Amino acid sequence: MVLDDRARPVVLAAPSGAGKTTIARRLVEGPGPFVFSVSATTRAPRPGERDGVDYVFTDEDGFKEMVRVGELAEWARVHGRLYGTPIRNLDDAAAGGRYPLLDIDVQGARQIRDRVPNALLLFVLPPSVDVWMERLHGRGTEGPGERARRLRSAARELDDVTAFDVVVVNDDLDDAVARVRDVVLHGHPGLGAEETEERVAALKRGVARALEEMETAVPEGSGGD
Ligand code: ADP
Ligand code: 5GP
Repeated sequence: MVLDDRARPVVLAAPSGAGKTTIARRLVEGPGPFVFSVSATTRAPRPGERDGVDYVFTDEDGFKEMVRVGELAEWARVHGRLYGTPIRNLDDAAAGGRYPLLDIDVQGARQIRDRVPNALLLFVLPPSVDVWMERLHGRGTEGPGERARRLRSAARELDDVTAFDVVVVNDDLDDAVARVRDVVLHGHPGLGAEETEERVAALKRGVARALEEMETAVPEGSGGD
């Protein structure tokens, strides 16, 4: 794996529905030296998703073979499915002098941190629980059972925020994209530690409340949808 500075991977992690995929897509569409790292996954494509563009879709056997031959820079089981970053994405980005943007979960972020010491780890926070829930509902890609499952993971993921280099709030999309660009290209520090702590505490309280409401309808472990 190439480790020079041009190869600096930029990891965008966030609790599900905070908007990291949207930010990552906007960054690679806009001007600047960013390229999206297309992950491999065993989850089924959502309507409109294209193989090789959004993900490389594969089955458990195909994925395990990638792991076996050492093709993945990191991998993890997320929401019950396997996801991983092909090492080739990092090498190709480096060869092109661009930053690979990794839209991955916190387990993957930790592996990248260990394996690629110059990686920049960015954590994206939703601006509030209400906006977050609206986005999760609005995306319309998960039923109530899957949303509850993702919220439970999200509550755990919020605890990992301290392992990240920089925190960015995704309120207005253009502002959030500009902030991430500033962080990567100009070393902007992002959200301060105190405000991060307050925001994370408020989000965790909100998630607990939302889960209580949902779990009366969808008991944990029922699968739901
Ligand atoms: P994640 O990748 O973190 O799970 P997504 O990027 O899929 O989240 O965003 C979740 C939903 O919120 C999507 O429907 C997306 O269009 C919407 N969204 C993301 N960022 C914003 C924003 N800044 N303002 C309004 N809607 C947003
Ligand atoms: P989704 O199914 O909503 O596209 O993604 C679910 C979660 O898996 C998100 O948190 C996403 O960032 C994460 N994810 C996507 N690709 C990868 C990957 O290559 N590695 C890891 N560890 N997580 C990933």
